[in-house]
Amino acid sequence: MTTPAMFPAWPGDAEVAVALTFDVDGEAPWIGEGPQNERRLTLLSQGRYGPVRGLGRILDLLAELDIQATFYVPGHTADHQPEAMTAILAGGHEVAHHGYLHLDTENLDADGQRGELEAGLAALARHGVRPAGYRSPGWELTPETLAMLAGLGFTYDSSLMADDRPYWEISGTEPLLELPGHWSLCDWPYFGWTPYHGGLLADPARVERIWLEEYESARREHRAITYTMHPEAIGRGYLLRMLRRVITGMLDRGRPWFATHAQIAALAAAPAETAASPASARPS
Ligand SMILES: [Zn+2]
Repeated sequence: MTTPAMFPAWPGDAEVAVALTFDVDGEAPWIGEGPQNERRLTLLSQGRYGPVRGLGRILDLLAELDIQATFYVPGHTADHQPEAMTAILAGGHEVAHHGYLHLDTENLDADGQRGELEAGLAALARHGVRPAGYRSPGWELTPETLAMLAGLGFTYDSSLMADDRPYWEISGTEPLLELPGHWSLCDWPYFGWTPYHGGLLADPARVERIWLEEYESARREHRAITYTMHPEAIGRGYLLRMLRRVITGMLDRGRPWFATHAQIAALAAAPAETAASPASARPS
């Protein structure tokens, strides 16, 4: 069962809340696939490009434009690329949970899923981070993990897609705020490519149009919108130039509030109040 979340007016008389989010996967997804990948140095290095090279470009752009973002960091990345965590936190950004070894939750039993959650929490805690939010690796969430999140102290999730507005996911005893993304607003289906995981290597001008069209829809509906990116993809030089054009295009078209997921979640009215309110994301 789901219920749209209610919000007051966005801060600063903004028309739309924009969450730029980055999944700093690094080598974790490839190592997590199994030991056959341990000898595949090119594949692993392609993942390592994210925290080692792409991330710095992203952080520089965000600092230049004075934008705070949310970084979903697998515990493995936090443990093996600690300087990436340090740089993200030094920029004043939010760090959220993205598994430990980026294991597909649907292929783990309940104990395995809890292990991923707890190991990820421990790794982030070594950097002083207590994450408020969770995004499932590979964007597949199971009933078992969903049921564990509130009990482990998470206040929001960003894995499900039942609405394009924030909503309350009520699947057990405790409602959880969902901040939905979508594959069309993610860089990976367009630009993420390896010899074994084929993407499109799409024309960035096309993606720029899609992302700005969805922004325009969100602006007119006064809703929150989430973009999902990966430093190993969006962190390529030509794609960072696209991201800059997307952000400046947003600023040219209206008044966005660039916010972290935690900032948006903090504004959501409690679900009991939501249930008593009209079923719209926000009065416009
Ligand atoms: Zn990921």
